[in-house]
Amino acid sequence: MSTRPLLNRSLAGMGTTIFAEMSALATATGSINLGQGFPDTDGPREIAEAAARAVLDGRGNQYPPGPGIPELRAAVAEHQQRFYGLSYDPDTEVLVTAGATEAIAAALLALLEPGDEVIAFEPFYDSYAACIAMAGATRVPLTLRAPSFRPDLDELRSLITPRTRLLLVNTPHNPTGTVLTPEELGAIAELAVEHDLLVVTDEVYEHLVFAGAHHPLAALPGMRERTVAISSAGKTFSFTGWKVGWVTGTPELVAAVRTAKQYLTYVSAGPFQYAVAEALRLPDSYYADFRADLHRKRDLLAAGLAEAGFRVFEPQGTYFITTDITPLGEKDGIEFCRALPERCGVVAIPNAVFYDDTEAGRAQVRFAFCKKTDVLEEAVSRLHALRTG
Ligand code: PMP
Ligand code: GLN
Repeated sequence: MSTRPLLNRSLAGMGTTIFAEMSALATATGSINLGQGFPDTDGPREIAEAAARAVLDGRGNQYPPGPGIPELRAAVAEHQQRFYGLSYDPDTEVLVTAGATEAIAAALLALLEPGDEVIAFEPFYDSYAACIAMAGATRVPLTLRAPSFRPDLDELRSLITPRTRLLLVNTPHNPTGTVLTPEELGAIAELAVEHDLLVVTDEVYEHLVFAGAHHPLAALPGMRERTVAISSAGKTFSFTGWKVGWVTGTPELVAAVRTAKQYLTYVSAGPFQYAVAEALRLPDSYYADFRADLHRKRDLLAAGLAEAGFRVFEPQGTYFITTDITPLGEKDGIEFCRALPERCGVVAIPNAVFYDDTEAGRAQVRFAFCKKTDVLEEAVSRLHALRTG
């Protein structure tokens, strides 16, 4: 047998995702899982029924159309118009994907050449690094630093080189909860136009903003023609297992992403696409109640973590809270998270794994609050044990 490593070198060292590792640890130890970001309550009953009906009525049980079923593409276009005043042609400017994860992969594989540089905020969502690497490109991190986790726009400017091809912008940002302000978005847009960069936006937490509002970059001057916007039903409708995501952009950008996407999954989630089309058309009250529920849970967990001795960085959006464990006399988030289930029956995620500059995130630990109130309360009471020893 050859001694050559089996795993392609672009994936060397990437191993098992932190989410899989920590969820397995939660199961093995019977801990409360505030690690991987998935809700412990499913989304609306009528949307689950719509999916079941689609299966039983034989809608979507065979390969759906490559770009996604027309009903869902129309619903995505309506959603962009309804919430952001953005107009997209459902036939040429919308593409349905296997979650945001496939959309990110297809966009990066389609738009990048080996040697291109991609600037992304770090800590970055784990699939960004893997997909940039699989495309043969290089990631260039713009570090969001505690306590504010705001992007330094002068630093962003200084990172742009003749090889920069693409900005990968995640707002609301996982794991810090940063929501970019209109001023920050304006500055990013100006740089993208000035340097003629492509932009991929990951907006999966678009409906989870507690302070300020979500503004899509594509709405800014000069941005529509260069932006591939990505979102997903997983977070907004609490069906993370359905893996229905979508891309919006110009016909040229969407065609490029579709070319890569058709050789990844070709299509997916046929019956769920019908249900998500219904979900996107839920009344404003659904979106408002969903946000209000998570806002309450954010406040509950933030207060509980602070009482338990963590330094809490209050997130403006997403369903994650980043903390600093230094006040607990701890230094290393990875060690802390590996020991936490045994120490007090709670699982969390060490942010260091989302950084190239691991020192910048060494003492940070992320907790998810998309869980039932009593589960969050129980987790907080268990975490109090950290103080008392
Ligand atoms: N981007 C970010 C920032 C995420 O947190 C997630 C996890 N939901 C994804 C993309 C992937 O979304 P999906 O589950 O729809 O593939
Ligand atoms: N987006 C989820 C998180 O950040 C995890 C999704 C996954 O496991 N890939 O927790």
